[in-house]
Amino acid sequence: MDIKSKVIIIIITGASSDIGEAAALKLSMNGAKVVLSARRKDKLNELKKTIEKKGGEALVVIADVTKMVDMEKLVDKTLEEYGTVHAIINNAGLMPLSFVKNLKTDEWEKMVDVNIKGVLNGVAAVLPTLIKNKQGHIINISSVAAYRYFPGGAVYCATKAAVKMFSEGLRQELAPKYGICVTSIEPGAVATNLMDTITDEDILGKLSEMQKMTMLAPEDITEAIYYALTQPSRVNINDVYIMPTEQQ
Ligand code: NDP
Repeated sequence: MDIKSKVIIIIITGASSDIGEAAALKLSMNGAKVVLSARRKDKLNELKKTIEKKGGEALVVIADVTKMVDMEKLVDKTLEEYGTVHAIINNAGLMPLSFVKNLKTDEWEKMVDVNIKGVLNGVAAVLPTLIKNKQGHIINISSVAAYRYFPGGAVYCATKAAVKMFSEGLRQELAPKYGICVTSIEPGAVATNLMDTITDEDILGKLSEMQKMTMLAPEDITEAIYYALTQPSRVNINDVYIMPTEQQ
């Protein structure tokens, strides 16, 4: 996509913090109009102000990715404001790690709802416009967890493997026929608030060990997103698998 010289409209879910926020800043500073979505209104409004102060343009739409009606509203508001949409970054996600034996089934359900169904809802909401336009880009934030298990990650890893495989299916169905590019981004450990939802004491005890290494910064993931988005239309970046140098 020619972000710098054309008007490009990009929806970002989970834009209220870390990777989503960094992506919104990078893309808007390079000329894209960004639609900032998440549940925390204050955070999104703050980010919109920051973007506007720096000369960019952003629209805030509060939406819960688990609710299809919210995702439809997100796209409707985008179309009302800008007339079209070119890309979506399905970034919203949760990682309440726990060992299966502890049966935190409510947390399993939340992960399935946000990490898998949230991505499906985002795609379903935006797809009619992308198909009509015969162009566009869907970026799904999967994880290194799609490839390998880590302690307490049985359900989380399964959700991210689902996102990666769904992305490949989407690409095969959409790219050749409609010119819609699909990319799965698979980061290793990034220094963010993602671990804040962990409640399993068995995992919490191990976290400080994990946090000793130098992790990726949200901006490192943003570079991968920008790279995937800005390729010429003949190029589809299928996967970007990106790890901290110090991660095993
Ligand atoms: P954060 O916890 O900072 O961001 C998560 C984002 O998801 C927040 O903006 C949050 O916004 C949003 N979110 C959560 N639930 C919902 C919901 N129901 N509806 C809408 N938005 C929701 O963590 P990261 O920036 O690290 O996470 C972003 C993505 O990156 C996730 O998909 C994560 O799995 C993935 N990832 C992260 C890695 C890491 O090491 N940090 C590694 C690999 C992948 P709000 O609460 O305002 O709704």
